Amino acid sequence: MWISNAEVGGRRVDVRLRDGEVALIAEPGSIAPDIAEPLLDARGGALLPGLHDHHIHLSSFAASQRSVRCGPPEVRDAGALARALKAAHACSGTGWLRGIGYHESVAGEIDRTWLDRVLPDRPVRIQHRSGRLWILNSAALERLSGAGPTPLERVAGRLTGRLYDADEWLRARLGSHYPDLTSACATLAGYGITGLTDASASNDRSTLEHLSSELRAGAISQSLLLMGAASLSAGPSLAGAERGAEVEVGALKVHLHDEALPELSHMTRRVAGAHEQGRAVAFHCVTEAELSYALGVLEAAGSASGDRIEHAGIASPLQVSAAAERGVAVVTQPHFIAERGDRYYEDVPLAEHAWLYRGAAWLKAGVALAGGSDAPYGSANPWVAMHAAVNRRTAEGRVLGAEEALTPEQALDLYLSPAAAPGQNPRRVRIGAPADLCLLDRSWGRARAELSAVQVLATFRRGRLIARRPLDEIASLSELSP
Ligand SMILES: [Zn+2]
Repeated sequence: MWISNAEVGGRRVDVRLRDGEVALIAEPGSIAPDIAEPLLDARGGALLPGLHDHHIHLSSFAASQRSVRCGPPEVRDAGALARALKAAHACSGTGWLRGIGYHESVAGEIDRTWLDRVLPDRPVRIQHRSGRLWILNSAALERLSGAGPTPLERVAGRLTGRLYDADEWLRARLGSHYPDLTSACATLAGYGITGLTDASASNDRSTLEHLSSELRAGAISQSLLLMGAASLSAGPSLAGAERGAEVEVGALKVHLHDEALPELSHMTRRVAGAHEQGRAVAFHCVTEAELSYALGVLEAAGSASGDRIEHAGIASPLQVSAAAERGVAVVTQPHFIAERGDRYYEDVPLAEHAWLYRGAAWLKAGVALAGGSDAPYGSANPWVAMHAAVNRRTAEGRVLGAEEALTPEQALDLYLSPAAAPGQNPRRVRIGAPADLCLLDRSWGRARAELSAVQVLATFRRGRLIARRPLDEIASLSELSP
């Protein structure tokens, strides 16, 4: 592949991709492409390293693409939720109806009775946007009923339809198959994403085997690192059919909930055990208490290279320094400021607004900072996230923690670090580097001024085109000089 007129590091250049690598970067027109070489005119668009989403739930994201949106910004009140469910029911036939993204701000603590009033005859399950709660109607409960104890919530002996932290139980009951990943991965490739870290705590040996076969079959176009359960690291690694076609195993994922934190010495042993096996640990920390606990465990167990904090939704100044001392990386979701910021604005004390999904403070303290979508619980579009990291604006336009704003270049770097070292050594386009690249529809100078408007023209993984937008869809191209 020969890409002419691309912008790399602020310069106009021609670029050759060969054997999966960037083979040549030359002055425009100074070298002629080979006769057989496919050509792509970048028209001055920035050619960047492909982005890495450091925290995604790929299967859930794929399933979400076929689910009803049940929360903000699409759905904001009870009436809108009822209309969305009825509309989805009308156009999708029979069987399970799956909703996602619910939040109490829509219609409060809804339960089976509420759902029965809207859709009494069809099994419905709605997931809370935290990913920790499913709300089921009576038809759904009927399908799930069976012998043995269930994690389904009961109040005064009656099932409420609420199901907490029981995804595995639910999956087993639904006899669930893995969703088709092709369209989800194509969507991600369309954003310029060439690498993914799947952060689902339930990922185990069978997930690894399944995703490896999907990767080999071409359903997944990105590189894939899998965090997850302790059992994930057992057994021989799965060799891919070609270079780069292997799912890698990442950190042990530890899900913390501040109302039920495990005994510290027990967790310390677990973390030390993972480290002894050469495995890093990733702590899911949304609240300040969860973060304190994780930092306490790392102090007792010692930290290892690759240890990471997922989200760090709220972090006090002391916790920022403690994280820096432990050398732990933070994987943040700046778009939560945009998507959930108005809620935070009301729920979190004013003095702590700057502690939410921090940006600049982590970097100043020397903490390795990387970005992940947490899709489907957050937007999968990294350009929207970068925009939020820079302007820190909520949907209603309020600014949360202006001093935490990143520069556009720092925001981009959140997605350029390698999978195994989030927040470190951002990749650059250079000769000899793997040709994992994305080509923007505009120069970096224009992109940095409005990151959320960026469109990706083409995405390459190991030199192979994995996404391409038809030129006639790109309005901004005409503004670029030929
Ligand atoms: Zn997550």
